[in-house]
Amino acid sequence: MSKPRKPFYFVFIVFLPILQIFTNAQGQAVDTTITINANSPTIVNFAGRRMDGPAKANPRNFSFIHTEAGSENLARRISEVKLFGTDGKGMADRKLVDGEYLAEGDIGSWRYKIDLEVPNEKNAAAHISWISNDRGILMLSDILPLAAQVKENITAIRFELPQGWKIHSSETMIVQDVFLTSDAGNAVFYIGKDWRERKISSGKFDLRLAISGEWLFSDEDAAAMAQEIFAEYRKIFGSDPAANATIAIGKFPAATNSGSWEAETRGRNVTVISSDMPFKTQSLQRLHEQLRHEIFHLWLPNGVNLSGNYDWFYEGFTLYQSLKTGVALNQIRFEDFLDTISRAHNIDSSQTRRMSLIEASQNRWIGADTQVYARGMVVAFVCDLMLLQSSKGKMSVGDLFRTVYNSHRPPDPAADANTAILKVFASHPHLASVVENYVKGSQKIDWRVQLDLAGIESEPGNTRSILRVKTKLSGSQKALLDKLGYNNWRKLTRKS
Ligand SMILES: [Zn+2]
Repeated sequence: MSKPRKPFYFVFIVFLPILQIFTNAQGQAVDTTITINANSPTIVNFAGRRMDGPAKANPRNFSFIHTEAGSENLARRISEVKLFGTDGKGMADRKLVDGEYLAEGDIGSWRYKIDLEVPNEKNAAAHISWISNDRGILMLSDILPLAAQVKENITAIRFELPQGWKIHSSETMIVQDVFLTSDAGNAVFYIGKDWRERKISSGKFDLRLAISGEWLFSDEDAAAMAQEIFAEYRKIFGSDPAANATIAIGKFPAATNSGSWEAETRGRNVTVISSDMPFKTQSLQRLHEQLRHEIFHLWLPNGVNLSGNYDWFYEGFTLYQSLKTGVALNQIRFEDFLDTISRAHNIDSSQTRRMSLIEASQNRWIGADTQVYARGMVVAFVCDLMLLQSSKGKMSVGDLFRTVYNSHRPPDPAADANTAILKVFASHPHLASVVENYVKGSQKIDWRVQLDLAGIESEPGNTRSILRVKTKLSGSQKALLDKLGYNNWRKLTRKS
């Protein structure tokens, strides 16, 4: 049974705050109602209207996105589109292709349905909207018309859901089941009966966990883990991300192999869709890995106003920092840290078509993603060693993150990412050769000098690099290894 429609006066009192906010905003205002019926929950009804006249740009066009993170033909899920004029009267329209309509006049309101059946490609469950039985994820980017996702627009989203369904979101709830967003393209709603919500203690910052399904770890384990990782990153960046955030952890909606997972951090929403592991220790370890990577993205890239292809920095460098944080929080042994970096170095060295990091970032979606990740991670490690060595342990790769974050947070104006980041690198003269040879250049990474200064060597007799800590270490090598977390495990054992 779905809830009865709300009476008119309720709708009216909700309009008032929206209009007040709207008068202060640059863009236009859109009001959308999303209705889900208990007897056919995957067929979702949408009704929207513009609250301040036709769209400023292309007022007769009505269109949706077609692809998202590798999922194609998304507009094929849309049916029964009905467009109305600004006077509320029905209008004829021409369907150009799936998800593209042209009305005979300026559009004032609309209705349509979308079939949110679980996507066939299982990994898509972390990137596009779906509903399965009593649970679903709504990502507005693939279910609202593009005209309702314009950045400056204020969009009100009201939900009419089956009995017992709840909504978890980072967006502002103004009254029960009604939310306001000024960034609909990045808004995510976790809906259904079996999401359990928990507040994660993180000072003034409002961080929430929405979790569904049964796991080998408890909800408390997940919340404590997210709290610890968040606190660690806050130390690196020196401040919180801009606004509240939600971390959602759920099972795949369709059966999958043990061990597979997919995650995404969109706006202020971390979505981890996963299967469990056979044993609790593995299950906890993997959750830690997922959260270490994704939570970092709340600051970088999602917390900065930078544009362009700079995946080498926000993915490659993130992988490195996430690994280093794993050592710092005693989740990863130092040997495994070195082993992962060795493997990344081997991947980069074996590329026949050599690419600079800047070039690899431009081609990430056409096969260069391994290079972005592997080369980016090794370059981050080399930068970290250089900064630690030149500053006698006072600076690290964390200083690069902090400067980039603090120099480009909204409301700072948008800037080109690669120009901005290379400017930060340029303030550390020791990094000039790294930028020239590896970020802008496509040379193989020669790290012998830095490794030696750090007391790390490549195992002799191997053509591929297998890193290990030297048996005899000088005082400065010991100090540097300590900064990388080499002695963490021992410190922990001494404490306990
Ligand atoms: Zn990532």
